[in-house]
Amino acid sequence: MDIKSLSIEELVKKIKSKEFSAKEVTKYYLANIEKYKGKNAVLEVFEDAVEIAEDIDRKIASGADLGLLAGVPVIIKDNMLYEGKKCTCASKFLKDYVSQYTSTAVQKLIDQDAVIIGRANMDEFAMGGSCEHSAFGACKNAYDDTRVSGGSSGGSAVAVALDMCAFALGSDTGGSIRQPSSFNGMVGLKPTYGRVSRYGLVAFASSLDQIGPITKSVEDAKLVLKVIAGKDINDQTTADEPLVDSKPVNLKGLKFGVISQVDKVAKNSKYYAIYKDIEKKLALAGADIVSVDIPEYELSLSSYYVIQPAEATSNLGRFDGVKYTTRAGDVSGINDLYKKSRTEGFGDEVKRRIMLGNFALSSGYYDAYYKNAKRVQKLLKTKFEEAFKKVDAIIMPTTYGEAFEIGSKTKDPVSMYAEDMFTIVANLAGVPAVSVPCGKGESGLPLGLQVVGKHFDDLRLLEITKEIQKEIK
Ligand code: GLN
Repeated sequence: MDIKSLSIEELVKKIKSKEFSAKEVTKYYLANIEKYKGKNAVLEVFEDAVEIAEDIDRKIASGADLGLLAGVPVIIKDNMLYEGKKCTCASKFLKDYVSQYTSTAVQKLIDQDAVIIGRANMDEFAMGGSCEHSAFGACKNAYDDTRVSGGSSGGSAVAVALDMCAFALGSDTGGSIRQPSSFNGMVGLKPTYGRVSRYGLVAFASSLDQIGPITKSVEDAKLVLKVIAGKDINDQTTADEPLVDSKPVNLKGLKFGVISQVDKVAKNSKYYAIYKDIEKKLALAGADIVSVDIPEYELSLSSYYVIQPAEATSNLGRFDGVKYTTRAGDVSGINDLYKKSRTEGFGDEVKRRIMLGNFALSSGYYDAYYKNAKRVQKLLKTKFEEAFKKVDAIIMPTTYGEAFEIGSKTKDPVSMYAEDMFTIVANLAGVPAVSVPCGKGESGLPLGLQVVGKHFDDLRLLEITKEIQKEIK
């Protein structure tokens, strides 16, 4: 049974035509989860996975009309609610928390007859870029046990790379879908902010968070996006923008922007030449490569590390030991309960962000930090809108290089934060961005190219990216 090489669409076709049963397919992926247990990518396999697959098979046998994802096994990042199932955000605080309802994105998968088979490891509350900040242990890179999987959606990326599911959902606040996808040779899409509902996604930084797919191909990403996108009355930040199918594109005559301020930083990468070579190949195929100036890019990392902890600390205020699961015992009053529960429940990285966020929001500092950072966010949005009047897409590296070694950055948080240098800007500007594999580094591990598109032009971005892939293979 050659499932590995199939696209999602082909897989669905074969399940619907009964060439494979949904149950067989689910069991195939479950066997891989078992085989690669040591990677620590999956925190829980849902016990009803096979039962749900059997249900799908019964529906097919009865001649019922099934959805776009009929029988397709999916793993969700452990910060998305799925009613009746645990959702821990890889935190001790939520270790026994059971979802009271289902997030919109997951519900949309279920509505198309997908089989949700488990939940993936991640950095605690999605804070991190290596998946080492999980309360349940780090998730290892798909191809090298000594390297990180990337983060925060590391478990989701490794699960797809090692065929533990047909695709996975991740969430991306500053790169958490794209960076682990890059580190594990997968395709990772962060849709336009407002494209996919955040209802039922445990909030990290609400003005930046977006759910998106991690897949083996751009085609698969397109299909999943079509399923999960859409206006949702439960999330007022979702946009009423139709997801317009893109006409096929031809590289000839397309304009690709290279942000000069990004290029300056990319020169520090060992693999700069690989990205320059991609530009040459695109030019040879008839595309124009043009330089774009966005000086505010230089403020993106610092602005992100003000906005993100500020919003995170507000969102985490609800974890107080009264609601949710971790409740400290032996306390002498309400304040002591809050303090002890939070001390016990949160890991070090989460505490660090809470400290940073409270500092940035405290009186006297609010104007200097948060307000200014929000100004940069707004300016970046405008600058990208202007840039896309001139170019069809912007290209840049996803990361500085291959997945780094486990433990190499945990003692130096700033060096870990600096890893987000290429991904953060798309979240601040709200534009869609996708990472696709574009070669291998010195250790033979994957590298990623990031393609950034215009607001709400997600499908055209994917169409363009597909054409780019043909040139860089
Ligand atoms: N690495 C970034 C951070 O730690 C991004 C995280 C994310 O996108 N969830 O904030």
